[in-house]
Amino acid sequence: MNGRIHSYETMGLHDGPGIRTVFFLQGCPLKCLYCHNPDTQKFEGGMEMSAEDVIAIAKRYKPFYRRSGGGITISGGEPLLQMEFLKVLFPMLKKEGISIALDTSGYGGGKNFLDVEVNEVSTDSTTERLTTNLGDLLSYVDHLLMDIKHVTDSEHLKLTGKNLDPARRLLQEIPKIQGMVWIRHVMVPGYTDNNESMKALYQMIAPYQHKIEKVEILPYHKMGTLKYQELGRKDPLLETPPMNIDKARAYELFLEKLLEMNEERRTG
Ligand code: SF4
Repeated sequence: MNGRIHSYETMGLHDGPGIRTVFFLQGCPLKCLYCHNPDTQKFEGGMEMSAEDVIAIAKRYKPFYRRSGGGITISGGEPLLQMEFLKVLFPMLKKEGISIALDTSGYGGGKNFLDVEVNEVSTDSTTERLTTNLGDLLSYVDHLLMDIKHVTDSEHLKLTGKNLDPARRLLQEIPKIQGMVWIRHVMVPGYTDNNESMKALYQMIAPYQHKIEKVEILPYHKMGTLKYQELGRKDPLLETPPMNIDKARAYELFLEKLLEMNEERRTG
């Protein structure tokens, strides 16, 4: 089965450890107000690629992965939308000895998420099936880059159009991951740049602290505005200023400190 790939980038340095080939999968069920890649949201479009095609590209950079501790990163859009494709791709990557990072907010799990909306699923059997799929897939993942958009259901809904359940479910699956987890959180002025949000984020991730290697507070920027114009859409945050980089960094340090204190309490 083929995947739909929006684009890919070689020699990526930010989406996981080392030098990475980053594949951005097409399609996303969220509508984050701050999305700077709105062109990846539509499920239609992108290039069709087989798992073999992806591996052929990734293999060219193996010497770089080896020297830098890198590998491949599957990002999006929302990669879990294409769960069936990833179920084919990930075991093949493992066989090639290529390290896998998955960059996700947890919204996926069906053959096609547009048919099976995880956060609207009500029957236990469907939820169980989706969770099983996710757990199987995560057992191949070396690094999880988990994007947490907001910390309460109502605010998450306002910011992304969906509730928090899939993100909570993904957090619960963290123990299944072989490697480490990076938590990522975009800080948006007027939405998430406050102490309460940061403390709630800390409380959400603290139980998984032993698996968390890094927390990144990413300052909201305005690079998406041009893409919205190109798509003939209005930037939903047109009036919102970019996030102050120093303030975002201060919150990142604040979170790191809280996690350190928690670790000392846990181990001391
Ligand atoms: S998760 Fe949000 S930011 Fe990422 S592609 Fe989807 S809508 Fe855009």
